[in-house]
Amino acid sequence: MLIESKKSLPPPLYSLEYKTSRTIIDLGDGIRIGDRGIIIIAGPCAVESHDQTLKTAKHVKAAGARILRGGAFKPRTSPYSFQGLGIEGLEILRRVREETGLKIITEAMDCEELGRVAETADIIQIGSRNMQNFSLLKAAGRAGKPVLLKRGASATLEEFLNAAEYILCSGNPDVILCERGIRTFDDHSRNTLDLNAVPVLRERTHLPVMIDPSHGTGRRTSVVPLARAGIAAGADGLIVEVHHKPAQALCDGDQSLHPREFRDLMSQCRLIAQAMGRDL
Ligand code: PEP
Ligand code: MN
Repeated sequence: MLIESKKSLPPPLYSLEYKTSRTIIDLGDGIRIGDRGIIIIAGPCAVESHDQTLKTAKHVKAAGARILRGGAFKPRTSPYSFQGLGIEGLEILRRVREETGLKIITEAMDCEELGRVAETADIIQIGSRNMQNFSLLKAAGRAGKPVLLKRGASATLEEFLNAAEYILCSGNPDVILCERGIRTFDDHSRNTLDLNAVPVLRERTHLPVMIDPSHGTGRRTSVVPLARAGIAAGADGLIVEVHHKPAQALCDGDQSLHPREFRDLMSQCRLIAQAMGRDL
């Protein structure tokens, strides 16, 4: 009975049965996520000041990144850790976009601040902790800006795709899926980057798929190897944490690349992209 009613459901909006052509998200200025070019998003975990954000932005831009990341609202495990600059952080991102021409991605943690984030950001990030915040997903579906949805640390791909479906069916076709590491029995790294997810997602959905090797490993020295592997596995892009002085970062310094390491990431990933028949 249950199987029968399931059978009669139309294919989900995320599926290749619903839409056979791959979704390309056009941000303007030649930035097309999901197209032949691999898109690199880079920047600090958190916006700490105008100076820190601008310095890091200039480094990542010079190395070839097109989109700047930086959290103004930070989901921190401890309430005593730096929580982000909030609205002031959004203002800094707005200024740095004007100063550098980089596009901006930043996280919205709740419905209350989503409108402000959507006004500032070129892409709204929904973090792993909020992957199943269904009110936020529905609101992001109405926000009028592309959404990068991060996989929950304990979410199956079925749950991940259903979370994307909430955004799609609320009216927003521009969703990017981001694998950012899941929780496993092993603790040699912060999370286990599930590269298996990339080919499976590409078989199940037309949506672009990105990899976050920073949160996916939590270890600076693992970021470049896993970035290479993510592109080799078929990802459409990367989101990477970079800080102009990682030792002084207020958030995720251990996994943040120094600008020099980010330049190495770019040149190595360029070779992998070429081998995959893609551009970077
Ligand atoms: C982030 O990218 O800043 C972040 C908090 O990531 P995640 O939601 O994957 O933990
Ligand atoms: Mn971080």
